[in-house]
Amino acid sequence: MEQGCCTIKTLTHIPKTHPRLESLLVRERLVKGFECGLVAVEGLLAEGRGEAFDYLLGEKTSRAARKATRVAAAQLLLAKRPVISVNGNTAALCAKDVVNLAKVANAGIEVNLFYANKKRKQNIALVLKKNGATQVLGTGKKMKQLPGIDSSRRMVDKDGIFSADVVVVSLEDGDRTLALKKSGKNVITFDLNPMSRTATSADITIVDNITRAISLLAEYCKKMSGNSTKSLEGIVNKFDNKKNLADSIIEIRKHLARRARIA
Ligand code: ATP
Ligand code: MG
Repeated sequence: MEQGCCTIKTLTHIPKTHPRLESLLVRERLVKGFECGLVAVEGLLAEGRGEAFDYLLGEKTSRAARKATRVAAAQLLLAKRPVISVNGNTAALCAKDVVNLAKVANAGIEVNLFYANKKRKQNIALVLKKNGATQVLGTGKKMKQLPGIDSSRRMVDKDGIFSADVVVVSLEDGDRTLALKKSGKNVITFDLNPMSRTATSADITIVDNITRAISLLAEYCKKMSGNSTKSLEGIVNKFDNKKNLADSIIEIRKHLARRARIA
């Protein structure tokens, strides 16, 4: 791994006044992540798909996303063995936030890749550790096979995703979301596309950019950590993911209508 890559410091030449500064910085982080062996080249394309949906959403956290994030926090606090699944993009974009979320939600962290590669897994684990993770699952020998999936994502840690009750996934492929569901897991996902297979098959879909939503999720976990089990269950049981996805699509439509008026 390239020297100094673990912290992915952005030595940018992008002027602070640039109107698309945030988005350009995210791209820079991913390119840097690719160059230092964290991100797969396909991960850059996946970000592109996400960016397109973020543009349609107005690049802000919608009311529907905020609602799903609060419900996700309740679900995480209720979980007995929650695990956050991390891929290259997530590590490059928000390793520190992943570690913080794991702390406040008392969750495990596991590296799990679609385009598997031992070196890349180790690089991701290293970045997470440099950002404060004490244990990173998914890189050892105690791996088990998740049934109903053919990609390399089927190999999961016996002490991690394999025995988890709640799994947080991001920038995820639909196949594994469905396999996790079939294995009886409760799935929380960050996915900017409210129509993807992941978004429509997860239990709680946060239709927002992970770079915005992950710290919000950690904040909700902190805020709600004193809530009673009954009140947390009430929040989760009232939630309808399909309805919330529909609300996200409506938010896109509203945003497009506003743009059409000023175009
Ligand atoms: P699916 O397999 O679930 O049907 P897909 O094949 O359309 O989805 P993938 O490439 O498998 O898409 O997964 C990438 C997903 O991650 C996309 O839905 C994309 O919108 C989403 N995504 C990309 N970047 C981000 C981001 N920064 N934050 C949240 N979601 C993102
Ligand atoms: Mg896919």
